[in-house]
Amino acid sequence: MHRHPEPAWREFYTTARIVEEIRAIGVDELAVGPDAYDPADRMAVPEDYRFASWDERARERGADPDLLDRMAGGNTGAVAVIDRGEGPAIGLRVDIDALFIEESDETGHDPADEGFRSEIDGAMHACGHDVHMTWGLAVLEAIKESDFSGRLVVFFQPAEETSGGGCPMAKSDFAADLDYLLAAHVGLDHPTGEVIAGIEKPLAMAHIDATIHGTSAHAGKAPNEGDNAMHAMGTAIVNAYGIPRHADGMTRVNIGYAEAGSASNVIAEEAHMETEARGETTELMEYMTDELERTVKSAATMHGCRADVEVVSKSPRADSDPELQALVSEVANGVRGIDRVVPAADFGASEDATFLMERVQRDGGLATYLIVGTDHPTSHHTPTFDVDEDSLEHGVDVLVETIRELEHQHPVPHVDGPASVDERADAEGGG
Ligand SMILES: [Zn+2]
Repeated sequence: MHRHPEPAWREFYTTARIVEEIRAIGVDELAVGPDAYDPADRMAVPEDYRFASWDERARERGADPDLLDRMAGGNTGAVAVIDRGEGPAIGLRVDIDALFIEESDETGHDPADEGFRSEIDGAMHACGHDVHMTWGLAVLEAIKESDFSGRLVVFFQPAEETSGGGCPMAKSDFAADLDYLLAAHVGLDHPTGEVIAGIEKPLAMAHIDATIHGTSAHAGKAPNEGDNAMHAMGTAIVNAYGIPRHADGMTRVNIGYAEAGSASNVIAEEAHMETEARGETTELMEYMTDELERTVKSAATMHGCRADVEVVSKSPRADSDPELQALVSEVANGVRGIDRVVPAADFGASEDATFLMERVQRDGGLATYLIVGTDHPTSHHTPTFDVDEDSLEHGVDVLVETIRELEHQHPVPHVDGPASVDERADAEGGG
């Protein structure tokens, strides 16, 4: 998995390999791509021409051509179900996409030393999603071989890094009537042997693209005939950071990418920006998104231009349920190799697993997003990111034992509050 990283909505080979493993395990139901979700619900889908090289590479590497045909247009990912008699319906969500990062080939970087470095230039599993899908498969296998009674639905979700895949998975029929949802991430600055039973306060987030259309003109002879998209963009950027903070809680805004114009003596005709807005709650994220849109459009108008603003994707805030945090804590404490269990921690970043969490909670179920620690030499999203392989086993054991415990304790009794303040830790998220 680590050798074949693929970015959002281009997880062709990855999905085919996952499906191959699921078929070997043998499940009661398996849905791939458009059979797993409605493609119209996808967010942040790249333009068509961006799929071809990834599809081709997957074919060259021997991925099942029938599967690749079904994933045409970037409908990647899969859902697998084990359905066995009476018992709770439990969902497990793992993500499968990689990042546009060139993996280090330096000695001392284990994947390079041991020969499993990324084989795709400029792409890398630098957030541990290769670990997550391995967990997903191993959990399926363990539950299949057990005397589990109930329904287990494993979501192999594409496009987490762009917040694009959570929504379609959450809207799918597979997400209906789940009693419990588990989502899990490796690392995030927690060492091997540590488990966070449930994160809280992930930031709601929106990815927003804006294009400003102006009119070009000769910068010397007739600047008055132009409508300066460059100037409008500058005005928009300065004022975006001036959007008032909100009394209800924490907000964020960032202009992460901007380009405009063509030459020094031309009034710029077009400008493009890629931005994000976040908030402590979904409402605060919506507030920042609306204000950002108004700011960009007003800046365009001020300079005689017009702006198209597009929310490319977004994810809501969803918190882990105390009942599940308590159960995962109890289970993790008994897992071999786990020496520290933290009941709850603030997340500080964003995650689109919140779509599935929110769906399950809205339908009356419980959800938690847990972290399984790993000693990673450098931060997530860097060329020398690597995991401690012990966390592969830890993750599987914690998840399988949790699923078995849910089966026995169902319905899980109500508890108040996740943890006392001194038991909390700060978690630093990836997304
Ligand atoms: Zn991640």
